[in-house]
Formats: sequence, structure tokens, C-alpha cells
Amino acid sequence: MIFNVEQETLPREELEAIQLRRLQNLCERVYANVPHYREQFIKAGVTPADIKSLSDLAKLPFTEKQDLRDNYPFGLFAVPKENIVRLHASSGTTGKATVVGYTQRDVNNWAELMARSFMAAGATRSDFIHNSYGYGLFTGGLGVHYGAERLGATVIPISGGGTKRQVSLMEDFGATVICSTPSYGLVLHEAAQQAGVNLRDLPLRIGIFGAEPWTDEMRNDLQEKMGIDAVNIYGLSEIMGPGVSIECAVAKDGMHIFEDHFLPEIIDPVTGEQLPEGETGELVITTLTKEGIPLIRYRTRDITSLNYTPCKCGRTHVRMNRITGRSDDMLIIRGVNVFPSQIESIILETEGASPHYQIIVKRQGNLDTVEVQVEIDGSLFSDAIKNLQQIEMRIQKTIKEFLGVSTKVRLVEPRSIERSQGKAKRVFDLRNESE
Ligand code: AMP
Ligand code: ZN
Repeated sequence: MIFNVEQETLPREELEAIQLRRLQNLCERVYANVPHYREQFIKAGVTPADIKSLSDLAKLPFTEKQDLRDNYPFGLFAVPKENIVRLHASSGTTGKATVVGYTQRDVNNWAELMARSFMAAGATRSDFIHNSYGYGLFTGGLGVHYGAERLGATVIPISGGGTKRQVSLMEDFGATVICSTPSYGLVLHEAAQQAGVNLRDLPLRIGIFGAEPWTDEMRNDLQEKMGIDAVNIYGLSEIMGPGVSIECAVAKDGMHIFEDHFLPEIIDPVTGEQLPEGETGELVITTLTKEGIPLIRYRTRDITSLNYTPCKCGRTHVRMNRITGRSDDMLIIRGVNVFPSQIESIILETEGASPHYQIIVKRQGNLDTVEVQVEIDGSLFSDAIKNLQQIEMRIQKTIKEFLGVSTKVRLVEPRSIERSQGKAKRVFDLRNESE
């Protein structure tokens, strides 16, 4: 079933005509209302009037995460502050978070796109949707929540954590749809097993998993363990949150991007050139309808490819393939974005810690674990163990507070971390090896 048949099955020419109209309107809005964009347009020698066809998109400047940080908190907003009805933010050290704002219309559109997503996954208004995405400043929880209500389904706003209780509520309430990160799906399964509950015996029938990279093998595993159809959902806070694209349950072969709202491109991450159809590169998205914080050619850093071949579900919107990596060093730990540089600045601000560190990410059971090894300052080495433990705890606590992830911080002896001759290798992501 299709939630918005008219928009989701538009013939390509009509869809492209709508995209062009919206792109032109977007350029006018940001040029008039956002000084950053006006400057960038002038620098690139382009004005809104130069956008005469969709191919003129390539003339426009890119927007990067750094631009959001430089304009923290509200510098890229395109409407007066009183028109913003909600803020979300991604984690970051003070002053460096990326903040996004939504108008009432943005929030309504988001709910519709999430409702479309649910229906693409096979859900209907009769479903009980168990929402384990985190509520709060992250976009996951509330994004899914309002979409489920818009669909008319019953949403259970359980948020993350308290896994044992989640399992018993899934059982008691008879959840039919589970929304979580794929790794948390596995954790739920494990907890269910421990509680003697077979998820396959519950009414559960659909899993909507996203917010972190996963594979088709993991899909098969989750489907088998839970007795569900598992689909991949994609989104990012800068663009909107979850519901930028989703797989249809019919094909389970790439995520339909809601193209009446988002205009995608694939570029070469090094040269910035647009790549021909089907080639793999960095996904760039222009928001066509967003009012609060519209983004022109936003570099997602996510690596994928686009598939324009018609889908058997009847939707005409392009499909993006699974994300295979990132063109920057961002780590996704249990669904939370973490840049090594954020951990570094916390270490550097801690007295007694040296700037030599390593971040080791592993997967234990089904959960990501992070160990941060930090060399202690030479002058402190003879200090009492108690003080060392205090330093470890302080770093651990600050990382948790600012980045929202739990880590294990371990101080190691001075000069025990290997020095590199060139680019220091600080991150060891062993998740695939330890699976
Ligand atoms: P956030 O802005 O915190 O919602 O994080 C967005 C980032 O999470 C994206 O840029 C992707 O790197 C990652 N992400 C979200 N959904 C998926 C998915 N289905 N597969 C792989 N990575 C994803
Ligand atoms: Zn489809």
C-alpha cells in the first residue's frame, strides 16, 4: 500500500517539474533570508535566476556540517525564530553541536514522510508500533512517533534502554512493528531469549531498522530471529531525521528517497563533480520544501549509489542503495554519531592526560563497545593509582555527557602508544572482525 499515491507514483517528468519549481523557490528563499547562502551564491557567481533547469543544480555551492557549526546555533535558519516550533540537535562538545529547527509545516511534512515510510514497510493503522529509537534531542524517537500517529497506528514511545522491560511490554502489548537500530534489534532478541520469550511467537511482523550501517546478512538474521520483514530506513538530522528514504517491503532492494521533498545527487567526494547515474560516491541532498533550515547541496558524507529503474512496488521515486561507508572519519556507535576529534578535545582538556590516544571500537555480542586508551602525562606517572582512576572517570564522564556514548577509558604508560611516521592512526574499528 502507498500512503500518498499521487506524490509517490508521479511520472518522472511531472516529478522533475515539481522539483525544479521547488528548487527555484528554495534558491530565492535562502538568497533573500540567509546571509550565509547569499555570500556563497555570490562567491560561486550564481543568482537564483540562473536556475533554469535541474542540471543547473551543479552551479550551486555545497553545504557542509561545518557550515552548520560555524553558524551555530540559528545562523542558517531561513524564517524568523518565532516560526520555529521545534529544535533538534546532534551531539557535540559545547558550541559545536549541529542544531536544526522546524516550522509547523516542516513537522507536518516530516510526519507525512514517516507515515509514507511505515506504509512502504507494510504497516497500516492497525499496527502497534514499538518505538525503541531514542526520544529527546535526537531526531529518531520523535520522528518515528509523529509518523506513526499520522498513519493512525498505535505508537508505544518506549525510547532506548531498559531492554528487559522492553521485551515484556512487547509481549504484553502485542507489538506488531519494531523500530530500532539493527544492533539494538539483536540485543532485544538476546534479552527475549534470556527471558524465555521467543519473538517469533509474538504478533511482531515488521522491523524498521536504521541510523547505522548494516548488511543484508544482518537483515536475514533479524528476519529469522524475530519472524519479521526487516526494512532499511535512512535519514539524518540535518536533512530532516528518519524518513528521508526507506525500502519498500515489496522489493527490499534500495531505499526510495522521497523526491518531491529531497533532491539527491551522487558526487565524487574528492573532486566534488557529479557522477553519472548508477556510480558509487557521496550522497548530496538538497531539501526542496524545508522552511526552518533549508539546505542547498548538503554533503551527507554517506557513500552510496542511486538506482532509477522502476520498482515493482509502483513508486517512481529513485532508490539509494545501502550505505557502504563514509567519506569522513565519523564513527556511529550504537546509533550515535561520534567524531574522533570530539573525543580528542575532551582528552586535551583533561589535566594529566597526554595528546596520545587510541580509540578501539569492537562489537561484543551485539553491542558496540569503545575503549579509549590515553597515555598519561609523563609528570604524573608516579602518582597514586587513585588519582589515575579519577582521571579515567573524569574523561569517561565527560565523553558520556557531551557525546552521549558510554566508553571505557584506560590510562596507559607514557610512550606506550605507537608513534606514527605520518598520519596518526587513532581509530581501530574492529567491529567487523569481532562479529
Ligand atoms: P543523525 O543525524 O544522528 O540521525 O545520523 C545520521 C547518519 O546516520 C547518516 O548520515 C548515516 O551516516 C547514518 N545512518 C542513518 N541511517 C542509516 C542507514 N539506514 N544505514 C546506514 N547508515 C545510516
Ligand atoms: Zn519499491
